[in-house]
Amino acid sequence: MKAICWEGINKVSTERVPDPSILNPRDAIVRVFLSSVCGSDLHLLGGYIPAMRAGDIIGHEFMGEIVEVGPEVKKLKKGDRVVVCSVLSCGGCEFCQREEYSLCDNSNAEPEWTEKAYGYPVAGIFGYSHALGGYAGSHAEYTRIPFAENTCFKVPDGVSNESALFTSDAFPTGYMAADFAGIEPGDTVVVWGAGGVGLMAMHSAWLLGAGRVIAIDQYPYRLEQARVRANAETLNFKEVDVLQALKDMTGGRGPDRCIDCVGMEANSTGIEKIYDYAKQYARLQNDRPAVLRQAIMACRKGGTVSIIGVYGGFVDKFPMGAAMNKGLTFRMGQQFGQRYIPKLLDIVAKGEVDPAYLLTHKLSLDMGQEGYMMFKDKTNNNMRSVFAPAG
Ligand SMILES: [Zn+2]
Ligand SMILES: [Zn+2]
Repeated sequence: MKAICWEGINKVSTERVPDPSILNPRDAIVRVFLSSVCGSDLHLLGGYIPAMRAGDIIGHEFMGEIVEVGPEVKKLKKGDRVVVCSVLSCGGCEFCQREEYSLCDNSNAEPEWTEKAYGYPVAGIFGYSHALGGYAGSHAEYTRIPFAENTCFKVPDGVSNESALFTSDAFPTGYMAADFAGIEPGDTVVVWGAGGVGLMAMHSAWLLGAGRVIAIDQYPYRLEQARVRANAETLNFKEVDVLQALKDMTGGRGPDRCIDCVGMEANSTGIEKIYDYAKQYARLQNDRPAVLRQAIMACRKGGTVSIIGVYGGFVDKFPMGAAMNKGLTFRMGQQFGQRYIPKLLDIVAKGEVDPAYLLTHKLSLDMGQEGYMMFKDKTNNNMRSVFAPAG
């Protein structure tokens, strides 16, 4: 079959690889209909995630059709149209029982990496390096789905493939960010990053009772999506002093809930930018935490900072004093997709939110490099490149 493989920094290629097959009794094989790029893939492309090997198939946000199931899979059958959660979970361990699915003890096939780096292993993710299980990703004609009953969700009739696709990763990730922010009725919620996950966090903030949503980004076309699709007020951090602007917009009090949907490759301005780039290039810090610092400084006293943009390692100049003395609450994590996907499919089926607008470029698997470069360089007003292996 054809698949898009990571080859090195900023390089992917479309290759012929062997078809996947059932390896465990709980596996299924999905024929992929749609598979999206994701902002977190850019950390792989940039070479910031260790444990990538040339030839690894990437992609983790996808939907398709079941074509084969292992002997222990009872709730799914050939022909089912499913969306697949990007994060793998066994369903049975202590953490899955608590619905903290990305902390699953059993779904990372190569646990030694994160056990060393983080103290304990974390869940596997499709197509996201050997540190997160070494699973083949979804930019392919077929993908093997471990723990299939716990990973696949049937798409309701009447919900299109395009609308279902983003309930795999972007929507549950954004929803969890808003959920973790602890939004109370009428709260002012600020979302850093108006990409797919950020936009979904904005929709989710409204669903959870926000009184006001403010989006921060640097790309005018993305800020326009935030205004038009997610009814957000917008700030361009290239044009305004964000901290001062947020103070002015909230009568000097600061926003209640601050959500970081950017993560480890945040862009910034001035001396902070030079400092963070230099340290990241020299491998003295893995991550550029400009958004996180700004969220902590902007947040009102007693507010919440919710972090869903991906961080991999260490950060510098973390304003711990501001966080401590302002009494901030922090929540963070990789998405607990299995907790949210059924509810979000329902919201999509009712037409309350339709994430299909994120799909701006539908491409064949042969367009892997173009699709990623357009997404990375933010050209052609690209929100998401989506590969359609079946045409
Ligand atoms: Zn993702
Ligand atoms: Zn588990």
